[in-house]
Amino acid sequence: MNDIIIFDTTLRDGEQSPGFSMTTNEKIQMAQQLEKLKVDVIEAGFPIASDGDFEAVKQISQEIKNTVICGLSRVMKKDIDRAWEALQYAKKARIHTFIATSDIHIKHKFNKTREEIFQMAIEGVKHAKSYTDDVEFSAEDAFRSDRGFLAKIVEETIRAGATTVNIPDTVGYAITSEFGDLIKFLFDTVPNINDAIISVHCHNDLGLGVSNSLAAVENGARQIECTINGIGERAGNASLEEVVMSINTRKNFFNVRTNINTKEIYPSSQKLVSITGVPVQPNKAIVGDNAFAHEAGIHQDGFLKNKSTYEIMTPQSIGKEKSNLVMGKHSGRHAFQERLTELGYSLDEKELDDAFKRLKELADKKKTIYEQDLIAIVEEQKQGFEEKFKLQYVQSSSGNRTIPTATVEIIHGKETIIDAAIGDGPVDAAYKAISRITGCRGELKSYNIRSISEGRDALGEVTVKVAFDDVIVKGKALSTDVIEASAKAYLNAVNRFLSNHSVDDPKVEKI
Ligand SMILES: [Zn+2]
Repeated sequence: MNDIIIFDTTLRDGEQSPGFSMTTNEKIQMAQQLEKLKVDVIEAGFPIASDGDFEAVKQISQEIKNTVICGLSRVMKKDIDRAWEALQYAKKARIHTFIATSDIHIKHKFNKTREEIFQMAIEGVKHAKSYTDDVEFSAEDAFRSDRGFLAKIVEETIRAGATTVNIPDTVGYAITSEFGDLIKFLFDTVPNINDAIISVHCHNDLGLGVSNSLAAVENGARQIECTINGIGERAGNASLEEVVMSINTRKNFFNVRTNINTKEIYPSSQKLVSITGVPVQPNKAIVGDNAFAHEAGIHQDGFLKNKSTYEIMTPQSIGKEKSNLVMGKHSGRHAFQERLTELGYSLDEKELDDAFKRLKELADKKKTIYEQDLIAIVEEQKQGFEEKFKLQYVQSSSGNRTIPTATVEIIHGKETIIDAAIGDGPVDAAYKAISRITGCRGELKSYNIRSISEGRDALGEVTVKVAFDDVIVKGKALSTDVIEASAKAYLNAVNRFLSNHSVDDPKVEKI
């Protein structure tokens, strides 16, 4: 009873927040990383919410073998049926069904009575139970619910078959001691509470998501719902890395454990950044760039004499080791393949040929190639759609006294199309030329650049979000040259848009 279940909702609560949407293929990649991290439960989506969510839950259920896969549903029969339709392929499946129990929600969202809500909850749990033994019930907005009513609903949903009952602070309103007290109240009041696992789901609106979750653990909760990098609705959810490292670093205080492979924490955080293009703030606990940097002179002095003076955990414990040199210009195809296998990738012959060719191209531009570079090369290749337009070359000029100009050459089928444009800067000029060539005019919504590895010749990764009318599409690309990476990222968004939205070939304007 000292094991804490880590329930990851990065792909559901996290993914539904603005700027974090992922394709099915990206969700599968993230789910594979979560399995390596050894989370106990992956909440893969909300199947009735959209066809995309349904497809992702279904494919993750088919793909992931060792972790419990969970799908969210309201308590209505049709929601639960749809959730099961997607989850039925999972080796271990959980249905997570919910209804709000606070008077504010009951009155303003449902216009119903407590008694009606109570009946709906019980029926929902029973219906879910007809599909699987593993049923979780959530009392949405539990923290603001009437305590007596909440206790009754917890007791009866357990009696109806819920094996986990979740107590969310949906709006992030609770103060830590109050939230701990609510959990204690439930353990003191609900007679059959030990027949289920009590879970918590704390939002971070007041920056208390992690501390509220930990206070719940002190009072008997045994499942924490959390996300990588703390992403989620509004200010996000309790962050997985902070929850897990608090429990690990302060074992003597909490006296509980998790199954998490902490060495996969940093790689998981980086994977999410790479997929979504949203960086982590530098001072973010555990996974921020500065989390293990010791700058102040007096700190450095103490740190060099004995690390424990200023370090309560090591960067190695979360898998943040100094990047190791892995490949050079003269590395062979076989060594490359072995390294990829070690990193957990299996490529077919053609994929390996392509990746190896790109490794060689990179080695011509960059002296040392790090593990992160290899991962980036392979990940870029696995995007799962066909590129109608390929960048052949981009050349740009800019300066404080010239008009920024870019010339772009693109291959489209058997044609090669070239165009040039001026813009507010070299990147803008390149984007204008690409728009003209592809006939696909988008509006740049966001632009992010980060370096993948170390050194002046590091690979730069550009992530863009581009609006084509009301459809927002993400694009991503890598290069040692930022203008090239920027152009490729934009073209990647154009290609993704064309493949996702089955638009006919755009009119190609030739010059
Ligand atoms: Zn939530």
